Parts: sequence; C-alpha cells; structure tokens
Amino acid sequence: MKSKVVIIGAGLTGLTTAYYLKKEGYDVSILEQSNETGGVIKTVEENGFVYEKGPNTGVISNVETVKLIDDLAEELQLAVANPAAKKRLILKNKKWEPLPDGLWNAVRTPLFTWKDKFRILGEPFRPKGTNPEETLADLVRRRLGNSFLDYAIDPFISGIYAGNPEMLIPKYALPKLYQLEQDYGSFIKGAIQKAKLPKSEWEKKVTKDVFSFNGGLQKLTDTLASKIGQENIITGVSHLKIQPLEKGFSVVYQNESEASQTEKADFVISTVSVDAVESIFPFITSSALEKMKALRYAKIVQVAVGFKQWQGMPLAAFGGLIPSKENQAILGILFPSAIFKGRAPEGGALLSVFMGGIKQPQWYDQTDAAIEKTVTEHLHNLLNSDQKPDLLRIFRYKEAIPQYELSSGERFNAIDEIEKTYQGLYLAGNIRNGIGMADRIKQGTDLAKTVIANNNE
Ligand SMILES: Cc1cc2nc3c(=O)[nH]c(=O)nc-3n(C[C@H](O)[C@H](O)[C@H](O)COP(=O)(O)OP(=O)(O)OC[C@H]3O[C@@H](n4cnc5c(N)ncnc54)[C@H](O)[C@@H]3O)c2cc1C
Repeated sequence: MKSKVVIIGAGLTGLTTAYYLKKEGYDVSILEQSNETGGVIKTVEENGFVYEKGPNTGVISNVETVKLIDDLAEELQLAVANPAAKKRLILKNKKWEPLPDGLWNAVRTPLFTWKDKFRILGEPFRPKGTNPEETLADLVRRRLGNSFLDYAIDPFISGIYAGNPEMLIPKYALPKLYQLEQDYGSFIKGAIQKAKLPKSEWEKKVTKDVFSFNGGLQKLTDTLASKIGQENIITGVSHLKIQPLEKGFSVVYQNESEASQTEKADFVISTVSVDAVESIFPFITSSALEKMKALRYAKIVQVAVGFKQWQGMPLAAFGGLIPSKENQAILGILFPSAIFKGRAPEGGALLSVFMGGIKQPQWYDQTDAAIEKTVTEHLHNLLNSDQKPDLLRIFRYKEAIPQYELSSGERFNAIDEIEKTYQGLYLAGNIRNGIGMADRIKQGTDLAKTVIANNNE
C-alpha cells in the first residue's frame, strides 16, 4: 500500500517532491494558498520581452538538478548561458571591472590590492579555522584578505543572498566552501584535490553552468505541475491546519469554494516560510518556534527593465554586481537578454535590477515612483543609458531570501527534534538545505526518496 502524502506549497520544492512521488504511484495532494503554481518562479511575456518576476537563472550545481532536467527533456528545452555573456562585472570607483577568470587577469585586476594578491600565494599554507560558527567575513579575511572580501565576496553574497557576509555563517550558508577548508585545509588545495576525484557519469554533468529554459523558468514549474496533474494540486487553500493523529495526520483546510475539507495523510511535507509553519502546525511548541522564528529574511525589490533598441554600453556580460563599499542604491543588474536568446526584441535589451536586501531593506517600502527614478538614474550612470525604458515592472518580495546566520544551528536542531517527535512530518523549503533553485530541487528529490524509504519500512 502506498501512502497518502500532503505537500504544502506548490513552489519548486513542493512540485519536485510531488513529481517524484507521483512517478512512483503515490497518492499526492499539493495544497497551495495562491491561485497559481510555481511559487516565486514566474515568467511574463509582454511586448516582445520575456522577463522573470522572481529568479532569473539557476546553476547546474548538483546531480539532482541534472537528473530532473534530463527527466523532463522531452517537454523542456534547456537554455544555458551564452558563453559570450560569461563575464561577471564588479563596480569599483564607478567603473565596471571583470571578475578575473584566469591567473593572468587575476594578477592584473584592479579589484584586489597587491598585498592581497601576494598573500593569496600563502593560502594553501594557512591553518584551517577552528570556529565552526565563524562568519563568512572573518573566514575570508583570514584566508584571502580584505580586498577579496570587499570586491569579490561581498558582491557575490549580494547577488545570491542579498545578504551581509558579516552575518552569514559559511557552515550553514555556504556549506561546500566551509567543508572545502575543513576537509583539505585550504580552498586552493581543496579545489585542486576535488577536481582529481573520480566522478560518476551524472557527476560529470554537474557543469556549474547557468541555466533557464526556452520561454523562461516558469516552463519548469508548469511542466512539473502538468506531470503531477492539476487534479492533485489544490489552489486557493486557506485556514489550513494540521494535527497529528495516533498514526498520520489530519489535514483541514478551505478551498476556493470556501468549503471545509478534511483529509488524512500518512506524510505531511511543508515547504513554506516560518510564519506559515506557525499558523499551520498549532502543536509545535513555542520554544521550537522561537528558534525557527529567529530566521531573518532579506527583502528584495526586483525591477524588470526593457528597451526595444539598446543604446547604452555593450552588454556582453552576465551582469554587474555592486560592492557595499561603492555606496549605490542598487545591489546589481543582470543582463538576461545577453545571457539567453529571445528575452528582448532584436537590437533591444532586457535588464533585471535588484534593490533592497539585508543592508538596504527600506527599498521594499518605497513608492514605485521613487524606485523607478532611482533605477533610471543608475542605468544612466552605470550603463550609459539615456533612454526612457519601454518596459519597467517592479516586484517586491518581503521574505525573498532566508539568511543562514548564527541562529541557523538552533533552527536546524529544532526542526530535527520536531521531525523525530512527529514521524512522517517534514519541515522543508528554504528554511533549511539552501536557498537556490538547485538546492530546492535536491531537497525535493531527497524528500521523495525519504518518503519512499519510510513507506517501505
Ligand atoms: C526575487 C528572487 C530572486 C531569486 N533569484 C534566484 C536566482 O537567480 N537563482 C536561484 O537559484 N534562486 C533564486 N531565488 C531563490 C529561488 O527562487 C527559491 O529558492 C525557490 O524558487 C523557492 O522555491 P520553494 O518552493 O522552496 O518556495 P516558494 O517558491 O516560495 O514556494 C512556496 C509556496 O508555498 C505557498 N504557501 C505559502 N504559505 C502557504 C500556506 N499557508 N498554505 C499553502 N501554501 C502556502 C506559496 O504561495 C508558494 O507558492 C530567488 C528568489 C527570489 C524571491
């Protein structure tokens, strides 16, 4: 007998989990509060532009992502980044400098000081850290130097976490980097040794390439939703409450027609934020909730800007990131029309501007007019564009990116305890196991495997 599984949230995590469970013949229901699937992944086609409201690109950074894309290859056309748009630009003294991609460029770049460039030669010989909860900023200062923190790690962290390296803890926020130092004693030695390890055929396909799909990222979530079957995805869900039973869980909710529904589930998988967890699971103790609620989220404002004819600086790059030291009101600009085909009319450009984050949360509450003015001023100053955009759309996210800061250890322990006490309940989503799309695919895949393994016990 295959179990009944209820999944809360039809974002990438919930859809991936449901997809693999359905494939194995499980009875799965996804309960989603909004009227759409995909969560924050939303692609819009408008006036010849194809823009993303949420994430723009993923990274093929694990085997689970490779396998999911491979599994859906008949329905989905993978779009990998144009090699001509590989360059990452970093702003220094109001000028874009490419992030060095080779030894020679690394020596010549003005991004880092000569002292730090020489100091990096000693990186393999520096002792490894002993504080597992050291901040990312301290780790980078210790191993690489201040200028690497200011002009590589700080903008990189802005681009991924919209966060602050002084607050993020590598053990939780960048576990692969943390482990590299712990296992090999050095980033450089670790990278060289790891490259020599034998790889399976699947591992060889983990290219670290940037990906989307022809037509945008929503093609992925739409395809997953159609494979799962719309009849198994209940949208417009409200008043959702879960209670543990002697065996399994009772699931009570209202659907779009306001009718109250009750289901019994053997497994319940949550993929929602901490606040939603609090309202859905009234039996979780306040002390466990307190540990989970210490999680901070970065607020993000994303602005899609389109030009039918681009007359600014050449955009042959992935985009530009802005270090905190440069004191600009925006975090960075992606160049989606340079990365992928078909995102803007011929000769035009599509840009994606990010504002807010942990360091400038006030932008979330600014008016559209203030945001538009700031964005156009920055495009003028930084990309040499004097034109009025043909398209400008603003999207605000209050809980965009969870910050894996010092409180994360206690949050993970609290979740482990809850899952041990209530067998069959999984508190997943981006409150643990990483924030990127590839992390979400991996977590969804792993959750499906866990349910299957427990069902067979
Ligand atoms: C602006 C932005 C830009 C990003 N850029 C990138 C990027 O470039 N690359 C990258 O890899 N990642 C990026 N990310 C992160 C990535 O998009 C997410 O990690 C991923 O899409 C999250 O998927 P999820 O299913 O875990 O959560 P979500 O997409 O948030 O889905 C959760 C779902 O749960 C539903 N829900 C919430 N509460 C309830 C409730 N009470 N009852 C029922 N349903 C509920 C929500 O409506 C939602 O549909 C970005 C995120 C944001 C916000």
